[in-house]
Amino acid sequence: MLDGKPIVAIATDRTKNRKTGDMIQTWILRADQDPLAAVFSGADSSICGDCRHRGKNTKAEPRTCYVTVAQAPLGIWRKWKSGGYPKGPLPTHKPVRMGAYGDPVAVPWQAWTGLHSANLWTGYTHQWRQLIASPFRNVLMASCDSEQEEKLAQLMGWRTFRVMKPGTTGTALECPSNKGAQCAHCGLCSGLNRPDAPSVWIEAHGTAKAFV
Ligand code: SF4
Repeated sequence: MLDGKPIVAIATDRTKNRKTGDMIQTWILRADQDPLAAVFSGADSSICGDCRHRGKNTKAEPRTCYVTVAQAPLGIWRKWKSGGYPKGPLPTHKPVRMGAYGDPVAVPWQAWTGLHSANLWTGYTHQWRQLIASPFRNVLMASCDSEQEEKLAQLMGWRTFRVMKPGTTGTALECPSNKGAQCAHCGLCSGLNRPDAPSVWIEAHGTAKAFV
């Protein structure tokens, strides 16, 4: 939905991710090139849009995304290429993480409509300024990287999720995963589905956190 290029959304139901806990993980990937190649060619814009954490593979603008693309995304893409995943609707027998890698807005809204049969989900988008993201306000958090972005997104009706530089704190609610909570039980990050819940911040994490 971002640029018309071929993408695929893959749901996996086993994870060792201690922060999320036991959730269906969804991976949004270019269909025509592996995720590592897509990062290097810039074709990952089809699945991440203009998210600044993609970087530009330069010293001045390094990649700061917390996802290590050469690990799970690459393995999952290869398994999909070899026919390892059956086609089907979004599984919802467990809490769902929309976009373990990739922006959920890249996937047609209709593909997510089974989501409401899940008892809990989480998801984030950097595309919150775009009209295409409007239907997702009910299910996703707006990913923000500054106080100005937070204010603007909140004015536009989003709940926000902000990644802070290591050692700094935000003004919204600190993500309780810092104290051991898991998304699979917390579920705060589900957009206006939780209209009275606060916005959230978290300290940068992952191998590239020092560059955030
Ligand atoms: S606030 Fe809850 S759902 Fe959101 S990232 Fe933190 S633990 Fe996960």
